[in-house]
Parts: sequence; structure tokens; C-alpha cells
Amino acid sequence: MNPWLLVYDGFDPAQEGLREALTALGNGYFATRGAAPESRADEVHYPGTYVAGCYDRLVSQVAGHSAENEDLVNAPNWLPLTFRADGGDWFAPDGVEILADRRTLDMRRGVLTRLLRTRDSRGRITRLEQHRLVSMDDPHLAALTMTIVPENWSGTLEIRSALDGRVTNAGVARYRGLADRHLVPIRGHAAHSVIELLTRTATSRVEIALAARTTLAGGRSRTGVAESASGDDQAVQEGWVSDERAVEVKAGEGVTVEKVVALYTSRDRAVAESEAAARTAVVRAGGFPCLLKRHARAWDRLWQRAHVTAEDTEVQQILNLYLFHLLQTASPHVAELDAGLPARGLHGEAYRGHVFWDDLFVFPFLAPRFADITRALLRYRWRRLPEARWAARAAGHTGAMFPWQSGSDGREETPRLHFNPRSGRWLPDRSHLQRHVGLAVAYNVWQHYRATEDTAFLAGFGGELLLEVARFFASIATCEQGRYAIRGVMGPDEYHDGYPGRTGPGLDNNAYTNIMTAWLMRRVLDMIDLVGAEGVSRQEIDLFTGMSRRMRVDFHDGVISQFEGYAELEELDWAAYREKYTDIRRLDRILEAEGDTSNRYKVSKQADVLMLLHLLGQEGVGEILTGLGYGWNAEMAARTVDYYLARTCHGSTLSAVVHAGVLARLRPGASHPFLVEALNNDVKDLQGGTTAEGIHLGAMAGVVCLFEAQARP
Ligand code: BGC
Repeated sequence: MNPWLLVYDGFDPAQEGLREALTALGNGYFATRGAAPESRADEVHYPGTYVAGCYDRLVSQVAGHSAENEDLVNAPNWLPLTFRADGGDWFAPDGVEILADRRTLDMRRGVLTRLLRTRDSRGRITRLEQHRLVSMDDPHLAALTMTIVPENWSGTLEIRSALDGRVTNAGVARYRGLADRHLVPIRGHAAHSVIELLTRTATSRVEIALAARTTLAGGRSRTGVAESASGDDQAVQEGWVSDERAVEVKAGEGVTVEKVVALYTSRDRAVAESEAAARTAVVRAGGFPCLLKRHARAWDRLWQRAHVTAEDTEVQQILNLYLFHLLQTASPHVAELDAGLPARGLHGEAYRGHVFWDDLFVFPFLAPRFADITRALLRYRWRRLPEARWAARAAGHTGAMFPWQSGSDGREETPRLHFNPRSGRWLPDRSHLQRHVGLAVAYNVWQHYRATEDTAFLAGFGGELLLEVARFFASIATCEQGRYAIRGVMGPDEYHDGYPGRTGPGLDNNAYTNIMTAWLMRRVLDMIDLVGAEGVSRQEIDLFTGMSRRMRVDFHDGVISQFEGYAELEELDWAAYREKYTDIRRLDRILEAEGDTSNRYKVSKQADVLMLLHLLGQEGVGEILTGLGYGWNAEMAARTVDYYLARTCHGSTLSAVVHAGVLARLRPGASHPFLVEALNNDVKDLQGGTTAEGIHLGAMAGVVCLFEAQARP
């Protein structure tokens, strides 16, 4: 096995969505799923292309309410490239017999290859070889080549190359029925082997311009069905422009088609206008071999800085795959953009391309190697400070309240309702109460600082982020009997969003939030020591100091309580649920469908208390707890781990990563099953169908970090 290759043999409709996500190609500026070039969105295929930071909002009717959602827009599809023999049907694998089908992702060079051999109903055998890249060298370019060999037939071969702006955001079944038409076609144009398509997003009015140059090599005389590009008026109005050609071919002699594509938007810098920029780029771009050379060189440079080794070849292959997708999403080109890291990459439409806290898992890998990227990701947050400050003010607080889900302008994008496919009900979504997302921003600031030791960053925008988040947590905390309490929030475990029997949402004194707040206050004081206290009042410093020493943490049975009142919750009959449902990862949905609620039970979706051990280590947690005046020792740490291990159902891919890491340090023998699960999360789609909707970027980066830690002496 070659650990640099991901190979899929044969076609499996049930696996196609997963394969498209795992063979997506991207460069941080945009990414395109590994869908077949001739495919259109249907129940099996989903050829999505996503441009970092390109969002659009639409209003839908949900359960009788108007709901506004912002989506990472599915940009026009640049892939369409197909052929037909002698006036037959345009090629579609469903209509022919497949004699051989192999897809290979070369992760070292970032090239997707497809080999196909087909026989049509008239016995004509045709061999296809396609190669695709999304340039890591020039983030606006992509290219596709297709060699068509008629093995046992001769005649007219027609080629069609197109740009398709009729696409919608229809990649996630749960969202269907909601508004999904984000693209408005503006115009198309076709001339001299170049086709162009200009679209605009419906409400954010971002122009997305594509240009494609299609060239042909091989074949005999050109019969000229349409020698050069053509644009049928009606089709163009709908957002489709194509270039059709015809050549005479002889059995055994191949024709190679090359399609070079440029993508620009009106958000780009250093362009006069996106349409002209795309046209110029595609005219100036070299041919496939030249683009490939530069692209492979760019990948080579990335791998030199990013490679993580494993002894086992199969593990190495998975690590390469996860690193590959991490680098395709958070590539050095991101340093030039105003974009955050979508939790599901640029690989699909799950969570509508929103940015959560997941980059917390990405920073430890990126910051020491690619500080330009982590700096840019923090800039994305910093540019949205005014919005976060406004949100804090509107909620009656000070400082900056970052949204749980973030998109274009940093307002809260968490939907107010979510759908339980098991019960068919729309339910209130309170996950925006995960205020700990601000702590993740602060943690990332500190990671970046530690990796770079850049005190100017701390004295500048990094420090401003830290301070504003600290001010927010200082303002939501209340001092009760000598301790600081934080009420009405949610921790990372989303299966608890309130108390049984209490009408108000949220939980009190979530240990993760409170301990990380104490950690944050310590870091702000460190920052003040390092770069001074300009703009910070004496009272604030006193408050930060007080909170670093007196945050409230609850305990029960010798373990940290996930939140105040956790001890009073009921135990779930785990054996009975496992027996009845087998897969109980989504216990929240199961219980709701039964007319019950996970709020009643001691069940966690994912690591919550244990996140503390993951981020701070046992000693770090001990340092903070003792600083707060609580007892803590190795035995309590072990007890806490066992306690929550027995009560967590791992409904998020992040959970196995955290458990593997925590156990590796505390009880190495017990870590293995979690490490295996964390490794297989995406490659085997362990969360049942979710990877097809986009990779789990945080989990991928988290796994890489686990192996990196293992490799460290
Ligand atoms: C997890 C969150 C995560 C989000 C996006 C959810 O399922 O519970 O922790 O941020 O997915 O990846």
C-alpha cells in the first residue's frame, strides 16, 4: 500500500457522497468535491464547489416561522466535461456497462485521477482517463484533463465542456425544503475556446466569475458541429454555458481534452472586476503539465513543513489524508483572506459552512508551523469584534460575545430551530448558549502567541481579543458568597441545554466554562505583565485577579461536576438503550423521539469536563483548581475520567479525539479503542453519513496532533 494514495475501485452509489468529500480538492480559497465531471446533483452525486468566506442569506418558512439562514454558497460547477459517440447519448455511467472504474487521490501532489472503461449498448468500448487539480500554486486556477480512447470503434466524437450556475445548496437532506437558491445568473459568454459565466449571490451580492479554456489534442478532421465555444441564449439565461466540439476518431487513437478554469469573486483583492480577472487568468494560464508542475511544487513545500509520520502504513495513509484536507482548507492562501475555518471544511454543506469552536483543535498543529494562517484566522475574529461587542451589549454585558456559529459578518448564525429526523419534529435550538466559544478564541490567541512569542501581536490585536473576551466573562459572572458563578450557559456537551423542570434555558456553573474562565483571567494578567495594562483599569485588573482565584467549581462523588446540579440527574439505563437501539450516539434524538429529554440524565454527547484535561493537562487543571482553593490530585483526575467515560456516548467526532488524548496521558492502555475510532471517524464515516456532508476538520486535526504527540520524544 502506498500511504500517499487513496484508491477507490468500483462504483458504489451508497459510498459516493463519502468518496466525493474525501477526494475533494482545494487550496484554501476554494474547494471542489470529487464528483464525476459528468454528474449532476441527485440522490447519489453532489458536485459542490465552495469559496472560502462566500456566504449568502435567505429566508425560509420553518414549522410556521420565518427563518433566516446564512449558507456557504455552492458556487457554479466548473467540472462539466463529457462526450458522446456518433450522435448517441451524452456519456453517463448509469447508461453504460462499467468494465473498470478506479479513482485515485494522490495526496502528495494533490491530483485526483479517474480511470474508466465502459461498454455502451452498441458494444462500443471506450476508455477514459481523467486528471484533476485545484491549484495550490495559484488559488484561482483549477484544471481537468480527459483522454478518451475509443477501443473498438471509429466515428465522430463530440466533447462538451461547460460551466453550470444552475446549482443550489441541496447537499444536506435535512435542509431540503428550505430556501436554497443562492445564485443569480448574470451572463454567459462563449468565444474562441473560452467560456465564461458570471453569477451573483442572491442577497450578499458577491459576484462569482468563472472562465474555462477548453483545448483538444488528437482526433482527425474537425467536423465542426461547433468549432468553438457556443452559448445558447436560453441556457445562458439560466446560468449554463457550454463549449461543444466534434472530431473524427479512429479505434485505438485517443483524444485529450484539457479544461483550465479560473474562479474570481468580487471580494478578491488586486482585481479590477471579477469577470475580466477570470478571463485574463484563464487566457494567461499555462497548460495542464505546466500547472501541475507548479501545483506539485507548492504541495511539496507544504508537506515539508507539515508531514507527521506513523510507523504503520495504513495509519500513515489516514494521517496523510487528514493532513491533506486540513492543508486544503487552512492553506497558506487563507492568510490573504477574510475567512474563518468552517467546521466541515470547504467540502460540503453541513452546518451551512459555519465557523464554530473547532479551530481550537486545529491551532495546536497550525500555529507552530504556519503562524501566518493562524494569525489570519484570528484576524477573521478580530474584524468581527464590533459585532461581538454589540452582541454583548445587546445581552446586557460588556466585552465581546462571540457567536457559537459564525459566518460573514460575525452575527450569531445558530438556527433557532433544529430538526430531529427521528421524530420529524422541529425543536428549539439553544446551542448558541455555548459561550465557551469565546474561550476558544482566547485559547487560540494564546496558542498563536506561544508559538510565535510575538509580543507585538499581544500588544496589538491579539491582546485586544483576549481582553475583550475576558471582559465579557467578567461581566456575565456574578459574585455569590465569595465565589464567581456563571449562569445560563451550555458546555461543549450539547445534550444538556437546561434543567428538567426549569423553564429558562442554560445551565449554571458549567465546570469547563468556569475553569477555562479562570485560565483566561490568568492569561490576561500574564499579558498585562508582558505588554502593560494600557486601557485596562485598576478595578478590572482586580476583578480579573479575583476571578482567577475564586471561580466556582462544583464536585460530587469525588469528581468535578459537569455543572451545578449534575449530581441530581438520573442515571440512564445504558444497557437497555444499547440493546434497543445499537447505535446510541445520538441519544438526544432517541430520547426526544421517545417523548423524553437528555436533560434528565447523566449522559454526555462528548467530552465536556474532560475537555479541561485535553487542553490543560492534569497538572494544568490541578494548578487552576488549587489556585481556586479546591483539592485536586491524580486519583481525582482518574476518577473524573472514569466517571464521564461511563456516561458519554460520543455523538460528536471530537469526542473520540479528546478521550484518546486524555487516556493516552492518564491510562495509556485504555486509549487505543478511542484512537482507532478517532482515526477512522472520517475515512470510514463512523458517524453514519455525516462525512458525505463535509469532513470533520477539528477531528482530523485532533487526530494528527495525537500522533504528533506520540512521535515526540
Ligand atoms: C459538536 C460541536 C462542534 C460542531 C461543529 C457538533 O456536533 O457537538 O462541538 O463544534 O458539531 O463541528
